[in-house]
Amino acid sequence: MPSSDVAQLGGNASCQLARKLTVSLTASRKLNTTSELLDIMARPTTFSYHDGSHLVAEREVMRFYDVSVPISTELATYPGDPPVEIHQWMSLASGDSANLTRLNFGAHTGTHVDAPLHFIEHGKSVAEMDLETLIGEVQVIEIPDNAKIIDQKIVSQWCSPAWQRVLFKTRNSLFWNEDRSFRSDYTHLSPDGARKLVDNGVRLVGIDYLSIEKFQPSRFETHEILLSHGVVIIETLDLRAVPAGPFELICLPLKIAAEGAPARVVLRTLD
Ligand SMILES: [Zn+2]
Repeated sequence: MPSSDVAQLGGNASCQLARKLTVSLTASRKLNTTSELLDIMARPTTFSYHDGSHLVAEREVMRFYDVSVPISTELATYPGDPPVEIHQWMSLASGDSANLTRLNFGAHTGTHVDAPLHFIEHGKSVAEMDLETLIGEVQVIEIPDNAKIIDQKIVSQWCSPAWQRVLFKTRNSLFWNEDRSFRSDYTHLSPDGARKLVDNGVRLVGIDYLSIEKFQPSRFETHEILLSHGVVIIETLDLRAVPAGPFELICLPLKIAAEGAPARVVLRTLD
């Protein structure tokens, strides 16, 4: 949850002054000078009184979680996808006028979105995705470690029909603590779980591993169900540091007219 910064202000003058003002603190410390107090008062937070002698100023600090994985040649890719290649195309050290990197990897590399075009002929591409779906309130749902399949029963138990965006934090997030080789035993969303989410009116669903679908299915039914109903899929999230609960989601995939694109995905605590 949001961290809070606390400072104590000694003296009646400060208390009376601060009582009328909204202020913000950046560190836990005693305030000794007027300029320190004025600096803090320039930022948005409120004071409260905890006892008769000291005024305690407390502020919920807006917190960002970067839930994107770093793209590197070490990053696991889904079997059959192109490997990640990062080459120095130009370099100052070699006498070139600038450093310039050449990237070569699949559209589903690292944290990325799947657009309908991934499995639907003539479906929408990432470039045509609606920003209103990609940005907005999201629920991080923590699924118990013993659940390896997110099925209709789990969706019914853990997801409120009121939620339009959901991110599943599963045992997969712990895979990011290990070496980055691909694991096929990841927790996934079953087709009946996908159908339940669609029935709930979900517009976006994310998961903390390389695919939302079980490994090498005979048919990509979970993807088909979600994408045919316009549900955006985010894959390869790193949710290790994020507690369950509501956040603001900011998911910005590269604007490419393709069926998928890497995205920087950030969660911001709600005010
Ligand atoms: Zn994908």
